[in-house]
Amino acid sequence: METGAGWRTISPGGVVTQAGNSVLYETGSWRTLRPIIHFDACSHCMICWLFCPDSAFLTEGKLLIGVDLEHCKGCGICAVECPKQCIEMVEEMAVRGGG
Ligand code: SF4
Ligand code: SF4
Repeated sequence: METGAGWRTISPGGVVTQAGNSVLYETGSWRTLRPIIHFDACSHCMICWLFCPDSAFLTEGKLLIGVDLEHCKGCGICAVECPKQCIEMVEEMAVRGGG
């Protein structure tokens, strides 16, 4: 998949005019919190998939298999909505080993 410009290359106040291109933009680079799914408690109900504003949940058939970290911006909506409370938001830099 082609990767579009990120926040570092778009001018302040810039306007994106091409509709339907959000998949080309990496929104995960400014994430400060990362969702970690505890699959042992997950019921694969897909509530998180439904609520995610970035369509960042990855599925295979009827199963949830992970998060697309290039597009997850760490809003935490999934963690709030998960009925099993099996999504934990953790500090991004701690996961990357930088903090
Ligand atoms: S909302 Fe929670 S239980 Fe449902 S699929 Fe997502 S992580 Fe699993
Ligand atoms: S933190 Fe926000 S953007 Fe990331 S997977 Fe959850 S709902 Fe989607």
